[in-house]
Amino acid sequence: MFRKALFFSSALLSLPLATQAHDGHGFFQGHELAHYLTSAEHAIPLILVGAAVVLLIGYQKWSQARKNV
Ligand SMILES: [Zn+2]
Repeated sequence: MFRKALFFSSALLSLPLATQAHDGHGFFQGHELAHYLTSAEHAIPLILVGAAVVLLIGYQKWSQARKNV
């Protein structure tokens, strides 16, 4: 439980770093979403966070299946 809390808190604390890779950004404007998804400065951290979530979910399922055996 402590490791999960540590993982989620560190992931949440790193989110502002992923969304502010460089200056000159606004939020909730029409072109901003495309910029976040198409520029490497933003897309790579988002992909890494997504991969971490997938790995965490996979680990949880594997751990629960291991307990049920
Ligand atoms: Zn940007």
